[in-house]
Amino acid sequence: MRFDLVTIFPEFFAGPLDHGILRRARETNIVDVQIQDLRVFTKDRHRSVDDRPFGGGEGMVLKPEPLFEATEALLGRSLGSAEEPVMQDPKTAIVLMSAAGNLFRQETARRYAQLDRIVLLCGRYEGVDERVAEHLATEEISVGDYVLSGGELPAMLIIDAVTRLIPGALGNEASSQNESFSAMPDMEARGAGEASSAPTGSKPLSDKCAALLDFPHYTRPADFRGWKVPDVLIGGNHAEVANWRRAAALEKTQRNRPDLLLR
Ligand code: SAH
Repeated sequence: MRFDLVTIFPEFFAGPLDHGILRRARETNIVDVQIQDLRVFTKDRHRSVDDRPFGGGEGMVLKPEPLFEATEALLGRSLGSAEEPVMQDPKTAIVLMSAAGNLFRQETARRYAQLDRIVLLCGRYEGVDERVAEHLATEEISVGDYVLSGGELPAMLIIDAVTRLIPGALGNEASSQNESFSAMPDMEARGAGEASSAPTGSKPLSDKCAALLDFPHYTRPADFRGWKVPDVLIGGNHAEVANWRRAAALEKTQRNRPDLLLR
């Protein structure tokens, strides 16, 4: 998987790419992350990437030309014009980070993990000329219902969430199958290792399918300041452990994210 970050702040990514699973995935060539400085694709003396909004109002808007040209240079082909639209490559996503985009969810991460290449366009200022969303990006994506000051952190979230789903990125392959936002039926197969009719594979979760949060985890000590680990987890009865985890995951989902159960 190749990720390309298009940004006016290339140094921003020095820390986040260099730790843990992401670092290892890069070192073992499971992912390749390239950073493209948007200002390289400016032509004026001031290297300006932004301009004032048509129609007036606050702030500055990222211009379309540098974003189109940066993406065309990365992909090595023209991305067309109104007169000559071009076909998109289905294995490449061009993703515009946008508070006004479609919500990024675990199922979006699963879909992206099947692609060959993802170009992430990071907005700044008041936003990005709408022609980028309409004619350059294949998707406009928001990472949550809040406004951030730039697309760099959202792009990092996407790279992290997608990378850990690529085979080989996690030390323990099972851990990306049985976690928060797994499909409900997976719960049957969780934890206890007993036979189950539910597939443990990652069947894609549709928008309509209910999902559960992860069950609570505990480790030693069994008694910490008087707060005890639930007895059933220490008892060693695999079936009881599986039942407890299923019920606890359901209870926690009901408490923290009732909306997941209604989807
Ligand atoms: N005026 C815009 C916000 C611009 S914030 C609005 O009201 O929707 C500047 C840039 O930060 C955006 O262009 C986008 O790239 C990024 N950004 C801000 N919030 C985001 C979010 N929730 N998800 C993804 N990108 C976001």
